[in-house]
Amino acid sequence: MTVVADRVIRHRVVVRGVVQGVGFRPFVHRLATQLGLSGFVGNDGGGVFLEVQGTSADIESFLGRLEHEAPALAVVEDVEVSDLAVRDMGTGRDASAFDIVGSEAGTGAATMIPPDVATCGACLAEVLDPVDRRFRYPFANCTDCGPRFTIIRSLPYDRPSTSMAEFPLCDVCAAEYADPTDRRFHAQPVACPACGPRLTLHRDGLVLEGTDAVLAAVHGVIARGGTVAVKGIGGYHLACDATDDEPVARLRERKGRGAKPFALMVPDLATARRIAVVGTPEEEALGSPARPIVLCRRRPDAPVSDLVAPGNPLIGLMLPYSPLHHLLFLPVPGSGVPPPSAIVLTSGNAAGERICFEDADARVRLAGLADAMCTHDRAIESPCDDSVVRVADGRAVPVRRSRGFAPLPVRLPVTVAPTVAFGGELKATICVASGRHAWISQHLGDLGNLDTERALDGVRATFCRIYGVEPEVHAVDRHPAYRTHRLSLERGMVGRVEVQHHHAHIASVMAEHGLDGTSPVIGMAFDGTGYGTGPDGESEIWGGEVLVADYTGFERVGHLAALPLPGGDGAVHNPCRIAVAYLAALDIPTRGRSLAELACDDIERAVVARMVERGTGCVPTTSMGRLFDAVASLLGIRHRITYEAQAAIELEAAASCGHPAHPLEFGLTDNGVLDPGPVLQGLLAGLDDGVGVDDLACSFHHALAGAVVASARRAADSAGRLPVALSGGVFQNALLTGLTRRSLEADGFSVLTHRSVPPNDGGLSLGQAVIAGYRRS
Ligand SMILES: [Zn+2]
Ligand SMILES: [Zn+2]
Repeated sequence: MTVVADRVIRHRVVVRGVVQGVGFRPFVHRLATQLGLSGFVGNDGGGVFLEVQGTSADIESFLGRLEHEAPALAVVEDVEVSDLAVRDMGTGRDASAFDIVGSEAGTGAATMIPPDVATCGACLAEVLDPVDRRFRYPFANCTDCGPRFTIIRSLPYDRPSTSMAEFPLCDVCAAEYADPTDRRFHAQPVACPACGPRLTLHRDGLVLEGTDAVLAAVHGVIARGGTVAVKGIGGYHLACDATDDEPVARLRERKGRGAKPFALMVPDLATARRIAVVGTPEEEALGSPARPIVLCRRRPDAPVSDLVAPGNPLIGLMLPYSPLHHLLFLPVPGSGVPPPSAIVLTSGNAAGERICFEDADARVRLAGLADAMCTHDRAIESPCDDSVVRVADGRAVPVRRSRGFAPLPVRLPVTVAPTVAFGGELKATICVASGRHAWISQHLGDLGNLDTERALDGVRATFCRIYGVEPEVHAVDRHPAYRTHRLSLERGMVGRVEVQHHHAHIASVMAEHGLDGTSPVIGMAFDGTGYGTGPDGESEIWGGEVLVADYTGFERVGHLAALPLPGGDGAVHNPCRIAVAYLAALDIPTRGRSLAELACDDIERAVVARMVERGTGCVPTTSMGRLFDAVASLLGIRHRITYEAQAAIELEAAASCGHPAHPLEFGLTDNGVLDPGPVLQGLLAGLDDGVGVDDLACSFHHALAGAVVASARRAADSAGRLPVALSGGVFQNALLTGLTRRSLEADGFSVLTHRSVPPNDGGLSLGQAVIAGYRRS
């Protein structure tokens, strides 16, 4: 037997994706050195390029590990390998060594910007280590962690083009930055107490300096029941003690927030578990590098104030994601004031406004909201709210995709023309797309005021500049009253395309799943409000839609029966009025004794019924969200709301505790119209028979899942057994999503649900971009 020496080969490798600013080159260097390969690695406009030379076995092992062991923050989209002629050993510098070479400007594809990343274990260990030079330093970071997107001013992503430009590196930091074997090699935001940003506390016109003094003062204000504005990664937060009613009540009042839940930050997983039920997917989401707010089921004996999330079964928890946040929960040596055990950490703004991120603006707008301000001198270039996720069907699904996720790209299954899509009116995001990539912006909030409109312009310009997109297509929602719809007309934007709301929802989930559009899907788009048109072109509010859709168009093959909704938006805050409208429209006899009617005042009840009978002042709506409102009120769960979807959230919570003991079924006409009449009558009969509210709420969810299956079957009769896509804000309901998926799968359908963009209007811009950009390309 003869042993043949393994052949020496040389490859050129180009890696594309999120591979800059994430420690990719040091990783390649380590890997190649370990395997005894020679060559070099560098950055260019399109990603990372490298050449490696060695035995074919070692090179094979190198290529495998290149993808599988890539740094945690890297997103490898594409690895292109080509053969090169082997270079002679002993000639040139790359004969036996592996080097990191300087960046090449180049013109390739746009560089991908990484999102902001939570403090890594190694940095946290330094911050906790009394002999480390970064002991208790609130701005420690490295290649694996720290701010990214929020500090970038322009590209290429290099320190001088970030808000770290103002902080020249000290000699020690400069040495770390220049050493390929160091964890901080080319970490652009690298800093230490000698050269980096510093903390200050502003209170009653006084300015306090020094990390320990500032943190001791913060602990003091929180311990005394006050509120501190804290400048974080993507903006200012307002923080107060979450374990006591009084500070939480005061903050709620100052913010003008109604009953809308506050998110909490807790120091660790153990504390999170004392407050809420934390399953494996919740635990993974809480500890993920994006560190979102995770909606968890609250424990009845949670050691926090009930006013944090009044009446809400869910509580939003997050773990510290910057050294400053970790330090908020640690005692200050020698201060004697204990740190808080859990804090409300809500965005720094009054209700309906945008998050504060500029220091001067924050001093003005937060003056009446906070008793003190804990700030620092590193500028935030792009504001970014905390992300929110909820586990549905065993998987964390974004409810708000912002810090930690934006601006990661969504890889598109089809090629699109350069496009800007403006999303919806609430939970707005914009999406910039070109070729096979879409970049969804951070959460911009509700476009109800001029300030948000300015923000929208800023974000659009930034994204187009960063990704080198010259838009040829501008996509907007069809709703003529949406601010972005009007702006696009006033400004005469080129390539203007109007996209139907629910079509965009379905396209977003299709794009996420990589569907190339050669075959349509059966789309169930259930939400609160979206602009649609009736058979004669008259405007309707849609929201319970069954569509057969692809990227080029859709056919509405079914929908929830239309309800004449009296008074439009006024009714939305009063589920009892919607219930009364349903009773009147469906002519369900109650002798005025239903819980919904009893919750209305006499005038309200009479006026709503009359409006529905005459059809005056009513807008027809097929909204599934309104049906949830009506059911919540009919069951006596919630009659008036102070934040969006409050009634539906409480209805789901009740249902989660119940059993479907009282079977209910929607009617389904030959035209695909879902009739909720039998369900509503069944609920009232159930109440009369003494069936529990929880059981009836549960039965309602089962009935709706059954209605989805019946609608899908009906659609399949003519369109074929296509996959069923679920989208729209109603599918944030974890119980409904799980039931619906299982029922559909049991019937032989394959089911597509959201994974990386929200089912609500936060995901709308992606769907619009694909529809409008695909049509043009
Ligand atoms: Zn780190
Ligand atoms: Zn330094």
